[in-house]
Amino acid sequence: MVFYSVMFRGLIITLIAAFISIMPSYTISSDVYEKKRQEMVRHDIEARGIKDKKVLSAMLKVKRHLFVDPSLMDKAYNDHPLPIGEGQTISQPYIVALMTEALSLKGNEKVLEIGTGSGYQAAILAEIVKEVYTIEVNKNIYEMASRRLKELGYENIKVKLGDGYQGWKEYAPFDAIMVTAAARHIPPPLIEQLQEGGRLVIPVGNTLFYQNLTLVRKEKGKIITKDICGVRFVPMIGDAQKKK
Ligand code: SAH
Repeated sequence: MVFYSVMFRGLIITLIAAFISIMPSYTISSDVYEKKRQEMVRHDIEARGIKDKKVLSAMLKVKRHLFVDPSLMDKAYNDHPLPIGEGQTISQPYIVALMTEALSLKGNEKVLEIGTGSGYQAAILAEIVKEVYTIEVNKNIYEMASRRLKELGYENIKVKLGDGYQGWKEYAPFDAIMVTAAARHIPPPLIEQLQEGGRLVIPVGNTLFYQNLTLVRKEKGKIITKDICGVRFVPMIGDAQKKK
Protein backbone atom coordinates (compact mmCIF):
# COMPACT_ATOMS: atom_id res chain seq x y z
CA MET A 1 0.00 0.00 0.00
CA VAL A 2 2.74 2.42 1.09
CA PHE A 3 4.79 1.30 -1.92
CA TYR A 4 1.89 2.15 -4.33
CA SER A 5 1.28 5.59 -2.84
CA VAL A 6 5.01 6.45 -3.13
CA MET A 7 4.96 5.33 -6.77
CA PHE A 8 1.80 7.34 -7.45
CA ARG A 9 3.33 10.47 -5.89
CA GLY A 10 6.45 9.96 -8.01
CA LEU A 11 4.35 9.77 -11.15
CA ILE A 12 2.45 12.98 -10.31
CA ILE A 13 5.73 14.83 -9.63
CA THR A 14 7.16 13.61 -12.97
CA LEU A 15 4.04 14.78 -14.82
CA ILE A 16 4.11 18.24 -13.18
CA ALA A 17 7.83 18.62 -13.97
CA ALA A 18 7.22 17.68 -17.61
CA PHE A 19 4.37 20.20 -17.85
CA ILE A 20 6.49 23.00 -16.34
CA SER A 21 9.36 22.23 -18.71
CA ILE A 22 7.20 22.70 -21.83
CA MET A 23 5.21 25.67 -20.45
CA PRO A 24 7.75 28.53 -20.87
CA SER A 25 8.33 27.96 -24.59
CA TYR A 26 4.60 27.85 -25.24
CA THR A 27 4.01 31.05 -23.25
CA ILE A 28 6.84 32.97 -24.94
CA SER A 29 5.83 31.93 -28.44
CA SER A 30 2.21 33.03 -28.14
CA ASP A 31 0.95 35.06 -25.15
CA VAL A 32 3.99 37.25 -24.49
CA TYR A 33 4.43 38.39 -28.09
CA GLU A 34 0.71 38.84 -28.59
CA LYS A 35 0.60 41.14 -25.57
CA LYS A 36 3.64 43.07 -26.82
CA ARG A 37 1.97 43.42 -30.23
CA GLN A 38 -1.23 44.80 -28.71
CA GLU A 39 0.75 47.30 -26.62
CA MET A 40 2.80 48.35 -29.67
CA VAL A 41 -0.38 49.05 -31.65
CA ARG A 42 -2.02 50.95 -28.78
CA HIS A 43 0.94 53.04 -27.55
CA ASP A 44 3.13 53.56 -30.60
CA ILE A 45 0.66 53.50 -33.49
CA GLU A 46 -2.92 54.40 -32.47
CA ALA A 47 -1.76 56.97 -29.93
CA ARG A 48 0.17 58.76 -32.70
CA GLY A 49 -2.91 59.13 -34.84
CA ILE A 50 -3.08 56.07 -37.14
CA LYS A 51 -6.80 55.39 -37.59
CA ASP A 52 -7.17 53.09 -40.61
CA LYS A 53 -8.79 49.91 -39.22
CA LYS A 54 -7.25 47.72 -41.93
CA VAL A 55 -3.75 48.94 -41.05
CA LEU A 56 -4.30 48.49 -37.32
CA SER A 57 -5.63 44.96 -37.68
CA ALA A 58 -2.76 43.94 -39.99
CA MET A 59 -0.26 45.29 -37.44
CA LEU A 60 -2.05 43.30 -34.71
CA LYS A 61 -1.98 40.15 -36.79
CA VAL A 62 1.51 39.96 -38.35
CA LYS A 63 4.05 38.42 -35.98
CA ARG A 64 6.87 40.95 -36.28
CA HIS A 65 9.17 38.81 -34.09
CA LEU A 66 9.28 36.22 -36.88
CA PHE A 67 10.86 38.82 -39.22
CA VAL A 68 13.99 39.42 -37.13
CA ASP A 69 16.94 37.31 -36.02
CA PRO A 70 16.01 35.07 -33.02
CA SER A 71 18.51 37.02 -30.87
CA LEU A 72 16.43 40.21 -31.45
CA MET A 73 12.94 38.72 -31.03
CA ASP A 74 12.53 40.31 -27.60
CA LYS A 75 13.04 43.76 -29.15
CA ALA A 76 10.81 43.17 -32.18
CA TYR A 77 7.90 45.21 -30.78
CA ASN A 78 10.00 48.14 -29.52
CA ASP A 79 9.49 51.63 -30.91
CA HIS A 80 12.56 51.67 -33.21
CA PRO A 81 14.09 50.03 -36.31
CA LEU A 82 16.22 46.88 -35.92
CA PRO A 83 19.16 45.49 -37.91
CA ILE A 84 18.37 42.66 -40.35
CA GLY A 85 21.95 42.01 -41.55
CA GLU A 86 23.98 43.37 -44.51
CA GLY A 87 23.78 46.86 -42.95
CA GLN A 88 20.00 47.04 -43.55
CA THR A 89 17.10 47.57 -41.15
CA ILE A 90 13.45 46.64 -40.58
CA SER A 91 11.58 49.96 -40.19
CA GLN A 92 10.13 51.24 -36.91
CA PRO A 93 6.56 49.86 -36.52
CA TYR A 94 5.00 53.37 -36.54
CA ILE A 95 6.67 54.22 -39.86
CA VAL A 96 5.38 50.96 -41.38
CA ALA A 97 1.86 51.90 -40.25
CA LEU A 98 2.19 55.54 -41.40
CA MET A 99 3.41 54.58 -44.90
CA THR A 100 0.72 51.91 -45.27
CA GLU A 101 -2.04 54.30 -44.18
CA ALA A 102 -0.76 56.94 -46.63
CA LEU A 103 -1.63 54.60 -49.53
CA SER A 104 -5.38 54.70 -48.57
CA LEU A 105 -5.87 51.04 -49.47
CA LYS A 106 -9.34 49.53 -49.89
CA GLY A 107 -8.46 45.84 -50.26
CA ASN A 108 -8.58 44.93 -53.93
CA GLU A 109 -5.34 46.61 -55.01
CA LYS A 110 -2.14 45.46 -56.65
CA VAL A 111 0.79 47.02 -54.77
CA LEU A 112 4.50 47.28 -55.59
CA GLU A 113 7.08 47.59 -52.80
CA ILE A 114 10.72 48.51 -53.43
CA GLY A 115 13.11 47.18 -50.74
CA THR A 116 11.75 43.86 -49.43
CA GLY A 117 14.23 43.76 -46.51
CA SER A 118 12.86 41.45 -43.81
CA GLY A 119 9.57 41.01 -45.68
CA TYR A 120 7.58 42.53 -42.80
CA GLN A 121 6.17 45.49 -44.74
CA ALA A 122 5.23 43.17 -47.62
CA ALA A 123 3.38 40.91 -45.14
CA ILE A 124 1.47 43.90 -43.70
CA LEU A 125 0.45 44.93 -47.23
CA ALA A 126 -0.50 41.33 -48.12
CA GLU A 127 -2.93 41.23 -45.16
CA ILE A 128 -4.74 44.23 -46.62
CA VAL A 129 -4.61 43.97 -50.43
CA LYS A 130 -5.03 41.32 -53.12
CA GLU A 131 -1.54 41.19 -54.63
CA VAL A 132 1.88 42.39 -53.47
CA TYR A 133 4.98 42.60 -55.70
CA THR A 134 8.22 43.34 -53.91
CA ILE A 135 11.76 43.88 -55.23
CA GLU A 136 15.01 43.45 -53.28
CA VAL A 137 18.46 44.28 -54.65
CA ASN A 138 20.59 42.36 -52.13
CA LYS A 139 20.81 38.63 -52.93
CA ASN A 140 21.22 37.38 -49.34
CA ILE A 141 18.34 39.53 -48.11
CA TYR A 142 16.21 38.47 -51.09
CA GLU A 143 16.79 34.79 -50.31
CA MET A 144 16.08 35.22 -46.60
CA ALA A 145 12.86 37.18 -47.20
CA SER A 146 11.55 34.87 -49.96
CA ARG A 147 12.09 31.82 -47.76
CA ARG A 148 10.42 33.46 -44.78
CA LEU A 149 7.36 34.70 -46.70
CA LYS A 150 6.93 31.26 -48.27
CA GLU A 151 7.20 29.50 -44.90
CA LEU A 152 4.61 31.88 -43.46
CA GLY A 153 2.25 30.96 -46.29
CA TYR A 154 1.92 34.33 -48.09
CA GLU A 155 0.74 33.19 -51.50
CA ASN A 156 -0.23 36.70 -52.65
CA ILE A 157 3.36 38.06 -52.45
CA LYS A 158 5.79 37.79 -55.38
CA VAL A 159 9.44 38.60 -54.60
CA LYS A 160 12.01 39.55 -57.22
CA LEU A 161 15.78 40.04 -57.06
CA GLY A 162 16.81 43.25 -58.82
CA ASP A 163 17.07 47.03 -58.83
CA GLY A 164 13.66 48.45 -57.91
CA TYR A 165 14.46 51.76 -59.64
CA GLN A 166 13.09 50.26 -62.86
CA GLY A 167 9.91 48.95 -61.19
CA TRP A 168 8.32 45.70 -62.40
CA LYS A 169 7.00 46.37 -65.92
CA GLU A 170 5.56 42.90 -66.39
CA TYR A 171 2.91 43.47 -63.68
CA ALA A 172 2.39 47.24 -64.13
CA PRO A 173 0.35 49.37 -63.66
CA PHE A 174 0.14 49.29 -59.86
CA ASP A 175 -2.63 50.85 -57.78
CA ALA A 176 -0.08 51.84 -55.16
CA ILE A 177 3.72 51.86 -54.81
CA MET A 178 5.80 52.02 -51.65
CA VAL A 179 9.55 52.64 -51.63
CA THR A 180 11.28 51.69 -48.37
CA ALA A 181 14.78 53.00 -49.22
CA ALA A 182 15.76 56.66 -49.60
CA ALA A 183 16.30 58.29 -53.00
CA ARG A 184 17.31 61.82 -54.07
CA HIS A 185 14.50 61.88 -56.63
CA ILE A 186 11.37 59.90 -57.42
CA PRO A 187 12.35 57.23 -59.98
CA PRO A 188 10.48 58.13 -63.23
CA PRO A 189 9.80 54.43 -64.10
CA LEU A 190 7.82 54.14 -60.86
CA ILE A 191 5.68 57.16 -61.74
CA GLU A 192 5.05 55.60 -65.17
CA GLN A 193 4.02 52.31 -63.60
CA LEU A 194 1.59 53.98 -61.20
CA GLN A 195 -2.07 53.59 -62.15
CA GLU A 196 -4.09 56.73 -62.87
CA GLY A 197 -5.52 57.79 -59.48
CA GLY A 198 -2.82 55.75 -57.71
CA ARG A 199 -0.58 56.68 -54.78
CA LEU A 200 3.14 56.32 -54.23
CA VAL A 201 4.98 56.87 -50.95
CA ILE A 202 8.77 57.36 -50.85
CA PRO A 203 11.46 58.94 -48.61
CA VAL A 204 13.04 61.66 -50.78
CA GLY A 205 16.10 63.73 -49.94
CA ASN A 206 19.73 63.55 -48.92
CA THR A 207 20.28 59.83 -48.55
CA LEU A 208 22.97 60.24 -45.86
CA PHE A 209 20.83 62.18 -43.41
CA TYR A 210 17.09 62.77 -43.14
CA GLN A 211 14.53 62.62 -45.91
CA ASN A 212 10.97 63.83 -46.45
CA LEU A 213 8.44 61.05 -46.54
CA THR A 214 6.64 62.10 -49.70
CA LEU A 215 3.19 61.10 -50.95
CA VAL A 216 2.68 61.26 -54.71
CA ARG A 217 -0.75 61.14 -56.34
CA LYS A 218 -1.27 60.68 -60.06
CA GLU A 219 -4.40 62.49 -61.16
CA LYS A 220 -5.38 63.02 -64.79
CA GLY A 221 -1.78 62.35 -65.76
CA LYS A 222 -0.54 65.04 -63.35
CA ILE A 223 1.70 64.44 -60.34
CA ILE A 224 0.72 65.99 -57.02
CA THR A 225 3.22 65.67 -54.17
CA LYS A 226 2.82 66.26 -50.45
CA ASP A 227 5.40 65.97 -47.63
CA ILE A 228 4.23 63.81 -44.74
CA CYS A 229 7.11 64.09 -42.22
CA GLY A 230 10.86 63.73 -41.75
CA VAL A 231 12.21 60.16 -41.78
CA ARG A 232 15.51 58.33 -41.91
CA PHE A 233 15.94 55.41 -44.31
CA VAL A 234 18.88 53.43 -45.70
CA PRO A 235 19.82 54.63 -49.22
CA MET A 236 18.38 53.13 -52.38
CA ILE A 237 21.36 51.73 -54.28
CA GLY A 238 21.85 51.07 -58.00
CA ASP A 239 20.36 53.34 -60.68
CA ALA A 240 18.99 55.77 -58.07
CA GLN A 241 22.59 56.74 -57.21
CA LYS A 242 23.72 57.07 -60.84
CA LYS A 243 21.00 59.31 -62.20
CA LYS A 244 20.57 63.09 -61.59
N1 SAH B 1 10.64 47.10 -46.17
C1 SAH B 1 11.67 46.45 -45.39
C2 SAH B 1 12.73 47.40 -44.88
C3 SAH B 1 13.51 48.02 -45.98
S1 SAH B 1 15.22 48.31 -45.65
C4 SAH B 1 11.10 45.66 -44.24
O1 SAH B 1 9.88 45.64 -44.04
O2 SAH B 1 11.89 45.02 -43.54
C5 SAH B 1 15.65 48.79 -47.28
C6 SAH B 1 15.86 47.63 -48.21
O3 SAH B 1 15.94 48.17 -49.53
C7 SAH B 1 17.15 46.86 -47.97
O4 SAH B 1 16.89 45.50 -47.84
C8 SAH B 1 17.98 47.16 -49.23
O5 SAH B 1 18.81 46.08 -49.62
C9 SAH B 1 16.89 47.42 -50.26
N2 SAH B 1 17.29 48.22 -51.42
C10 SAH B 1 18.17 49.24 -51.51
N3 SAH B 1 18.24 49.72 -52.77
C11 SAH B 1 17.37 48.98 -53.51
C12 SAH B 1 17.01 48.98 -54.89
N4 SAH B 1 17.54 49.83 -55.76
N5 SAH B 1 16.08 48.08 -55.30
C13 SAH B 1 15.53 47.19 -54.43
N6 SAH B 1 15.85 47.14 -53.12
C14 SAH B 1 16.75 48.03 -52.65
